Amino acid sequence: MSAELDCAELERRLFEFLDQELPEQVCAAARAHLAHCPPCEGRLAHEEHFLARIRQWCTSDTAPDGVRERLLIRLRRLDSHRG
Ligand SMILES: [Zn+2]
Repeated sequence: MSAELDCAELERRLFEFLDQELPEQVCAAARAHLAHCPPCEGRLAHEEHFLARIRQWCTSDTAPDGVRERLLIRLRRLDSHRG
């Protein structure tokens, strides 16, 4: 299995990120993808806090529940707009 994620895979796994369900290596692959994929980074740039959380959560074991819940609500709202 490649260590790289493609755009669709990354998008599919955004919520897993938030739930901290991704294995560390997948998390690292996703970060690597963002680093070289302007479209994905641009999309997530609208959620700067989200990007910041990804970076934090990939390097720490804990996430504040309240912040995570708010992000999940926002992202799911965005997702529903996409149809
Ligand atoms: Zn991408």
